[in-house]
Amino acid sequence: MKILVINAGSSSMKYQLIDMTDESILAKGNCERIGIDGHFKHTTGDGRKCEYDVKMDNHTQAFMEIKKALIDEKVGVIKELSEVSAIGHRIVQGGSIFKESVLVDEKVIADIESLIPLAPLHNAAHVQGIRACLEVFGKDVPEVVVFDTAFHSTMPQTAFMYAVPYEYYEKYAVRRYGFHGTSHRYVSHRCAELMGKDIKDLKMITCHLGNGSSITAIDGGKVVDTSMGLTPLDGIMMGTRTGCLDPSVVTFIMEKEGMTPAEADIMLNKKSGFLGISGISSDDRDVSAAAEAGDPRAKLAIDMLEYQILKYIGAYTAVLGRVDAIVFTAGIGENQSSHRETVCHKLGYLGVAIDDEVNKKAIRGVEGRISTPESKVDVFVIPTNEEIVIARDTMALCSK
Ligand code: AMP
Repeated sequence: MKILVINAGSSSMKYQLIDMTDESILAKGNCERIGIDGHFKHTTGDGRKCEYDVKMDNHTQAFMEIKKALIDEKVGVIKELSEVSAIGHRIVQGGSIFKESVLVDEKVIADIESLIPLAPLHNAAHVQGIRACLEVFGKDVPEVVVFDTAFHSTMPQTAFMYAVPYEYYEKYAVRRYGFHGTSHRYVSHRCAELMGKDIKDLKMITCHLGNGSSITAIDGGKVVDTSMGLTPLDGIMMGTRTGCLDPSVVTFIMEKEGMTPAEADIMLNKKSGFLGISGISSDDRDVSAAAEAGDPRAKLAIDMLEYQILKYIGAYTAVLGRVDAIVFTAGIGENQSSHRETVCHKLGYLGVAIDDEVNKKAIRGVEGRISTPESKVDVFVIPTNEEIVIARDTMALCSK
């Protein structure tokens, strides 16, 4: 069975074609700048590549480009489009409606559309992706939707409510939803596998640290709290996002600078975080390099990030009452060993002990335990794989 995994954004569409017999990636790529000037990239599992500019006015045209590449003589990986058995879509916001992945039908599309106010850019783009897919592949190819929020749907109300007047929860569904759920789900299950234990018996803290970052407390395989909120802005500081702050900071700056809500949104989402503090870059590699070269604001950004990770781990340890494993994943979590070292050394009070040499080598796709055999908490680096979760869910639902 070959499954096409789609991640549709407003102006981009990433894809992977996965052969489920061995879960290998046959091809992957990205349609960039859809509706602008258009750029297409495609790579096959055996290293063949193509990349070119092409005008794609909408997602349907982007799918036509994907289709062309998949069956192309030089860079193709299948003979006919009919070899694609099913399609799995990543959906950012499932609200309180979707607690698990489902097969797409008109009701599901309408429900995803009804959640557009909670994730205007993302959910609108996902719906465009699903409809374009239907147009290009036809109704006979089943489509499945997998939600970033679904894994967090087990959170108790105590954890997901904001202390604003209750009517806003009732009227507008304002609450914590959490994101990166597919990643937290993948790494937590993989962690249990690596520990050789049933996930039901484990208490874990999973740290997805990338351009967007979130930390999650998982008890017996169920999320009990997570750092992202109504939107992916909450929690720890990120590449360009603030993370949590006193809400008065927003109204104060808006008033002082005469900002509109839309301008404040850009400031909080695109100009803050690593970029805002360092003034150099949103990318951890650039900021870390500048910090090492002695730039004080870059150093401050790094210190703030490490401090906030530490604070969340401490808070979630209190929530869980015990912690058996801590997992680091995503671009920063998988590669920036210095942050893991700083944070883990400060967790000595929990009995955390890591092997610094093993930690340094756990980069660029290496999976494994970085804690010492004596450590009271197992610490892992686990490269995330959201696409495989989407493909597995798609296969499971289509085989039913
Ligand atoms: P992500 O959003 O998961 O792609 O992560 C992006 C972040 O990971 C950026 O801040 C990068 O600086 C950081 N990062 C550090 N090392 C690497 C690496 N080898 N590959 C990709 N991202 C990296």
